[in-house]
Amino acid sequence: MSTSAQLIDGKALAARVRAQLAAETAPLVARGVRPGLAVVLAGDDPASQVYVRNKTAACAEVGFRTFDHRLPSTVTQAELLALVNQLNDNPEVDGILVQLPLPAGIDARQILLAVSPLKDVDGFHPDNLGRLLMGEPRFVACTPLGVMRLLEEAKTPLAGADAVVIGRSNIVGKPLAALLISADCTVTVCHSKTRDLAERVRRADIVVAALGRPETVKGDWIKPGATVIDVGTNRRADGKLVGDVAFAEAATRARAITPVPGGVGPMTIAMLLANTLQSARRRAG
Ligand code: NAP
Repeated sequence: MSTSAQLIDGKALAARVRAQLAAETAPLVARGVRPGLAVVLAGDDPASQVYVRNKTAACAEVGFRTFDHRLPSTVTQAELLALVNQLNDNPEVDGILVQLPLPAGIDARQILLAVSPLKDVDGFHPDNLGRLLMGEPRFVACTPLGVMRLLEEAKTPLAGADAVVIGRSNIVGKPLAALLISADCTVTVCHSKTRDLAERVRRADIVVAALGRPETVKGDWIKPGATVIDVGTNRRADGKLVGDVAFAEAATRARAITPVPGGVGPMTIAMLLANTLQSARRRAG
């Protein structure tokens, strides 16, 4: 099976974005405003620890300061809320990231609501999601933002294109659908109750898979010439990291496709940095 699709290299694009962000950060730092990201990690979820390590390293690379808050899985709701409020009040903190999932017994919704919308660089707060829906975005969730940059990188025509988004979560599917609508796509959002998923995907010029089910989107579902963005990150039984799309098959039909790993993942982190810089700029005036 030959790969004819253009590979959309998210790792390389993210490196270019980080270099640009570092260049924009330096003059701010010279004026005494070093962008600051607070990272709250509660519990000992191994995947979360890796994500947080990667985010912290990316911050250091572009010249940001990080405020690291590691809490035990026994942390209480009140303690977490107090920490979030303290970070809201700290003028040196431009962005607050509360790594999910939170430990059992913590009401994550209440914690995310407590984050100031002006520091919500993950774009999870209802105020920011609502603004996005109204076409007046402030902070947009990082993965959907990264997907849009990857579509741009692949020179994907957007106006009038039929886009299918598989997944309707508040952090990926829904904000992405809003961004694609704003970009003049005609958007179909699919989920676990969707009938004839394959048929819907077959009509799409743009397919974004964010369902979290390994290699579910088959090659013969892809319309020849479509652009395919694979958000899924799934660990297969043999240990291999795979996406939601059967990559090798899909790559024979797509015009352009993202790999897993090396596609959406690095762009998500790059967009978190971009949102934090945006927040710091506001502080700088
Ligand atoms: P989620 O909250 O579990 O949402 C999954 C969505 O997919 C739900 O809307 C669900 O439908 C739908 N779905 C599940 N099975 C389906 C099926 N067989 N057919 C059609 N739709 C189906 O997941 P998420 O947080 O959005 O993340 C999705 C995937 O992206 C995961 O693999 C996650 O690891 C990955 N991810 C990657 C990054 C990155 O940076 N690379 C960032 C975020 C997420 P219902 O609503 O009906 O349940």
